[in-house]
Amino acid sequence: MSFLACTRCGRHLTSEVSQEDTPPANRDVPGQAFIAKGTYASSWNHGFVLHPDDAAGASQHPDPRRLVGCCGPSGMDGPNLVCSGCGAEIGTQESDCWKPHFVVTLPDATNLLGDDQG
Ligand SMILES: [Zn+2]
Ligand SMILES: [Zn+2]
Repeated sequence: MSFLACTRCGRHLTSEVSQEDTPPANRDVPGQAFIAKGTYASSWNHGFVLHPDDAAGASQHPDPRRLVGCCGPSGMDGPNLVCSGCGAEIGTQESDCWKPHFVVTLPDATNLLGDDQG
């Protein structure tokens, strides 16, 4: 098992997560989770993709303009999650109705710690 920690202050941003084995066939369903809870995958931006519920150590961005969306933050306005410990921007939550729901971390903002790297 592994977890993600804030690069700046070392706070745990997730509970234990394991690398996703097989991506689901129906990955891009609007309004549904992009990835199963408790798993992560490498992202298109060289960060990590997580289930929105797994980023428990992160907080909403203090700038409400980053959180715009009709049913949840769309993530279209820049990183909207910060480390609950030090306030560093750590990623973007996308959980509006018209797109799949996930958190994607910023490259270099988080460290993957644990024993199942690779
Ligand atoms: Zn909506
Ligand atoms: Zn931090």
